[in-house]
Amino acid sequence: MTVPGTLDKFKRVPIKQRDPEERKKDFEPYILSYTLEEAMAEADRCLGCGLCIPGCAARVNIPAYLKAMAEGNLKKGINTIFKDLPLPLICGTVCTHRCEDVCVLGKRGDALAIRHVKRAICENTNYVEDVVIEKKADTGKRVAAIGAGPASLTIGYYLGLNGVKVDIYEKMDIPGGMMTVGIPRYRLSMETINMEVDFIKSLGVDIKYGVEVGKDISFEELLEKYDAVFIGAGNHNPRRTGTKGHDETDRVMHAIDFLRKVALGEKVDVGKKVIIIGGGFTAMDASRTALRLGAEKVSVYYRRRFEDRPSAGTSNAEEEYEETVAEGVEFVWTVTPFEYVVENGRLKGMKYWKNQMVEQEGGGRAKPVPIKDQEYFVEADTIIEATGQIIDFSFLPPEIKEKLDMNWNDIKVDDNGMTSVEGVFAGGDAVNSQKDIIAAVADGKKAAKGILKYLGI
Ligand SMILES: Cc1cc2nc3c(=O)[nH]c(=O)nc-3n(C[C@H](O)[C@H](O)[C@H](O)COP(=O)(O)OP(=O)(O)OC[C@H]3O[C@@H](n4cnc5c(N)ncnc54)[C@H](O)[C@@H]3O)c2cc1C
Ligand code: SF4
Repeated sequence: MTVPGTLDKFKRVPIKQRDPEERKKDFEPYILSYTLEEAMAEADRCLGCGLCIPGCAARVNIPAYLKAMAEGNLKKGINTIFKDLPLPLICGTVCTHRCEDVCVLGKRGDALAIRHVKRAICENTNYVEDVVIEKKADTGKRVAAIGAGPASLTIGYYLGLNGVKVDIYEKMDIPGGMMTVGIPRYRLSMETINMEVDFIKSLGVDIKYGVEVGKDISFEELLEKYDAVFIGAGNHNPRRTGTKGHDETDRVMHAIDFLRKVALGEKVDVGKKVIIIGGGFTAMDASRTALRLGAEKVSVYYRRRFEDRPSAGTSNAEEEYEETVAEGVEFVWTVTPFEYVVENGRLKGMKYWKNQMVEQEGGGRAKPVPIKDQEYFVEADTIIEATGQIIDFSFLPPEIKEKLDMNWNDIKVDDNGMTSVEGVFAGGDAVNSQKDIIAAVADGKKAAKGILKYLGI
């Protein structure tokens, strides 16, 4: 047992992980929780400076809950977290923990393991008994939210507390959005998602499963029936590369379609050799999932260099990369695929060029430029494109879509989370550029406040 106060302030209490050779054979969680003693000792390293708070999109009072944990006051810890974050165990398990990147302890040693301590607080409390809920009387107001991802769930929680009835319309039969059909089970279990969704539902939030807005109920009907509408529809339209051959076989697929099928329990045969195109978090999840489905060689091909990959330099990106490499995934940098070779309907492999990185005038991001003198070929049974996704707007009538101000592919909102259409609010991946759970929670919180103001509550 580690005794609080006896540790080197600059050394993190190590977190245990399952052996890579073992964990890559199944979908069971591989990061093991801190024991209560370990979590208390780790929390005790906090200096209370508060520098991490602006690093968290939802501005959770991190030093306050770390102090509570160090003192063994878990009830205070969980209530501190719930003030700003209604999905604490989910975030304690898979948050991108940008707060840790700014932790002052990281300047001389190891940043505090904020995410793991939060998880320990959640695992050692019982929300139903320990979280103090002060729910206001019913206001008679009703709000519809589209999508049961973290943004809408957060809206449900904060509006529910304020006596506003929230109905969430979800086209799938399960909650969680990308947390459920994007993030693989070995990183986030369905039990964790269900437990936190059930707690939010206990405030009177209703999730109407299997109802697709724009198909089973129109957007106009929501506007008529409710006092405000929140768009939390996420980004679920795959962005494809259009590489020659991509549409000639079902052995070339997009990562979000692949991960969704696996998450929903569909049998997916990837063969022995799998190529992933991309270099971000989705590429890591797709590659590690392919290994768990029995692939023998999984290679990630990315067009830029190692140091240029998305989120490079953040502790989350470094951890996920190291874990992926430890499981045996190979990385090939600076590559441009130009043909997926399909013969008689069968995928044979991929033709590609190597890229040179050309620095941009004015210091912009270096650009990958293919060197076309030499062509390369690599065999593959399956190619998975982890090349991003955008919002599917098919649920919006054209006249409303036209009125909606956009920031490239993202919906623009004001300081109250309201779009350019009055009474229509939005948040999450459909809006922010950070595109992670904590940013969706932050948007949900902002829009909940904005809706209360809009409704005069
Ligand atoms: C592979 C992958 C791994 C990720 N890993 C992490 C991670 O480790 N940590 C992290 O913080 N973030 C991670 N993310 C990002 C995170 O999942 C998202 O940022 C977050 O879920 C976005 O929340 P949201 O509420 O905006 O939308 P979503 O979670 O996408 O939920 C939107 C919901 O809306 C529903 N919907 C859409 N249109 C309609 C309609 N017309 N009618 C009814 N329902 C509709 C969808 O079915 C979906 O359930 C990952 C994403 C992916 C793809
Ligand atoms: S920055 Fe680090 S040391 Fe400072 S309050 Fe946050 S967790 Fe504690």
